[in-house]
Amino acid sequence: MKVGFIGLGNMGAPMARNLAAAGHDVAGFDISAQVPEGIDAAATAAVAVAAREVAITMLPDGEILRSVAHEIIPAMEPGAIMLDCSTVDVESARAVAEQARLAAVHALDAPVSGGIGGAEAGTLTFMVGGSEDAVNAVAPLLDVMGQKAVHCGPSGNGQAAKICNNMILGATMIATCEAFALADKLGLDRQAMYDVVSTSSGYSWTMNAYCPAPGIGPASPADNDYRPGFAAELMLKDLRLSQQAAEAVNADTPIGAHATEIYSSFVEDEGGKGKDFSAMLPRFVARSRPAAR
Ligand code: NAD
Repeated sequence: MKVGFIGLGNMGAPMARNLAAAGHDVAGFDISAQVPEGIDAAATAAVAVAAREVAITMLPDGEILRSVAHEIIPAMEPGAIMLDCSTVDVESARAVAEQARLAAVHALDAPVSGGIGGAEAGTLTFMVGGSEDAVNAVAPLLDVMGQKAVHCGPSGNGQAAKICNNMILGATMIATCEAFALADKLGLDRQAMYDVVSTSSGYSWTMNAYCPAPGIGPASPADNDYRPGFAAELMLKDLRLSQQAAEAVNADTPIGAHATEIYSSFVEDEGGKGKDFSAMLPRFVARSRPAAR
């Protein structure tokens, strides 16, 4: 397919490279990152998407997505598809979809999970909002960049699925880490803790597949000095999006709200920036119970 790819950062560059390697004709644009080999460098975002069947965006946030959408949608042909793979707020995803609809362009919001490793290996999971026909039309591209795509409903629902998942993930990581820190102080061996919890009702992805304790369970960023992985600041971004969405629809999410506060302190005041989000464990280990409780 003829693809224009906007946003060639940590995630976008390997995704675009995989598409080109699979034989798709890819033009790319980024305001600062270098365009990878095998991709035609375009002078502007509008040039990158002109006369292309699909425009893919992989951008930092909703505000930037909206500004790029203003540039590229008028340059796209009616019937073309805008496939946004960034993680952004639900409202921006729906606003961009509406703008696309007015220009007879099909919009899909398709945030991913799987991180940089998944982008490089072509094993991302896509959570997609938008029309079934558009999802089917981009299936050959999703197949190259990922291993699974779940159609979640109309525009915005891909972002909704992503932030609900990551709100659970952030809260569960905190719960797993505080329990390990408590176990330490109770004199319970970490391996015994893992052996019990990973096979008992406290099991979770954060315990079983991504254990935050070094040397315990399958290999994870904890075994690599907490280098990401999934950086704590990206978890904070997603938690904040979950709270923005909860506020917009008047949903009560007390645990998500508290997880957001804890990751916010961790990233902004406690040196967590640049570390994997599982570095929450050494944070808890170093702390004592607050006096007020
Ligand atoms: P990144 O900062 O490495 O890449 C974003 C790129 O967009 C940068 O190269 C930047 O120069 C470019 N850009 C910014 N404004 C632009 C504009 N106006 N026009 C063209 N290019 C522009 O970020 P990333 O890690 O690749 O993440 C991209 C998205 O994927 C984010 O929404 C992030 O939340 C999401 N995500 C990231 C991961 C991860 O592990 N890195 C995992 C899942 C989802």
